[in-house]
Amino acid sequence: MEHPCAWSEYTEEQTAELEAFCTKYRAFISENKTERECAAAAIELAEKEGYISLESAIASGAALKPGDKIYASNRGKTLMLIQLGTEPLEKGLNILGAHIDCPRLDIKQNPLEEKNGLAYMDTHYYGGIKKYQWVTMPLAIHGVIALKDGSVITVKMGEAEDDPVFYITDLLPHLGGEQMAKKASEVIEGEMLDILVGSRPLTIKDGDECKDPVKTNVISHLKEDLGIEEEDLLSAELEVVPAGKAREVGFDRSMILGYGQDDRSCAYTSLTAQLDTEMPKRAAVCLLVDKEEIGSVGATGMHSRWFEDAMAEILELAGEGGSLPLRRCLERSCVLSNDVSVGYDPAFPSVYDPKNAAYLGHGVSFIKFTGARGKGGSNDADAEYVAALRRVMDEAGVHWQTSELGKVDAGGGGTIAYMLANYGMSVIDCGIPVLSMHAPWEVTSKADVFEAYRAYKAFLNQR
Ligand code: MN
Ligand code: MN
Repeated sequence: MEHPCAWSEYTEEQTAELEAFCTKYRAFISENKTERECAAAAIELAEKEGYISLESAIASGAALKPGDKIYASNRGKTLMLIQLGTEPLEKGLNILGAHIDCPRLDIKQNPLEEKNGLAYMDTHYYGGIKKYQWVTMPLAIHGVIALKDGSVITVKMGEAEDDPVFYITDLLPHLGGEQMAKKASEVIEGEMLDILVGSRPLTIKDGDECKDPVKTNVISHLKEDLGIEEEDLLSAELEVVPAGKAREVGFDRSMILGYGQDDRSCAYTSLTAQLDTEMPKRAAVCLLVDKEEIGSVGATGMHSRWFEDAMAEILELAGEGGSLPLRRCLERSCVLSNDVSVGYDPAFPSVYDPKNAAYLGHGVSFIKFTGARGKGGSNDADAEYVAALRRVMDEAGVHWQTSELGKVDAGGGGTIAYMLANYGMSVIDCGIPVLSMHAPWEVTSKADVFEAYRAYKAFLNQR
């Protein structure tokens, strides 16, 4: 069973549409590198399309009717968009779910340190990373600093042309003999991921003493540039990410290099499919969630009750309130859990089953099950659900393929699929193949990004 390469089947018109879509995609992932930035940008786009916040809908007491568009934000990190369909909510939803958190280095709460005249900020990595990949590249700091007076300062430093960047050093090869003999997992260890933030000592007047003049000077810059004291870092969420924009890859410009395409490639395509849907039959939902990379934990992770509670509010406003209609709505829902798949990488053939691998440029990939060691921890989609989706995708002319997460026993992983399946929903993973997943810079094919958008739109617009 071969799934043809999408590129060879595109018309000129489709290629133009693909390029226009991918230009917008590159801008989105260049601008928005954290869950908070993605959620805020998504709200801005949604409001332009007529979405209103759940809070304002509740406050106005408006009765929701088919076609109405609502968004609900959970702490600005997890977002749900819903457009009511012509069918009652009790009949179920069509849900696109993706995550907007990405592997990164979080700055510790007490991060500043001066060592031998250099100032550092200590980090604690977030998600599964190969630590040695994060050294010797320009880094940016994105995030927020919450102050005791209730205000919140937004930070984005290292992206503008004249911004400073940050950096983690590595050993020169001349002295790296002992290091190079280590296992890759030990070459750079977690506590070595300190970002370099200064080297210039504070100017001290005669007679004054300063214990850490370089660190003190950095603190004076924090005060000057951001208006904060060192203590304010205690209540900050600062994420260190690769600095710079997403780029085209290859002489043929067929691929995209970008940070955090796991899973912002699927998040952006899900969001745009949702925004481009008008009056679906079943209510259309796009869920953009936080904390997937660390097990979907916490109030903003998929394990939280938040989505269910937000849906209870929506049903109430639509005149379908009550516990049983909510249970029925959730149980009858269908989900595409849109998370990236592993792109087949010819440099590492030993970890793939070539018949059940996703190839760049061959379309969005359906993954019936994930998990590890005999499908452990997986959501295994029903054959019936897979068959129904084959029909939807083929009727819409979507390029799609199927894959597994590598060879049996080669490793494994999970997504948000199994948590949504806990409600009794029909769920399958469906995502864009990625090369070098979880590396600071990941590669996707423009064709697969475009096909994901087309697939997600076909899913929401089922009749
Ligand atoms: Mn992912
Ligand atoms: Mn991931």
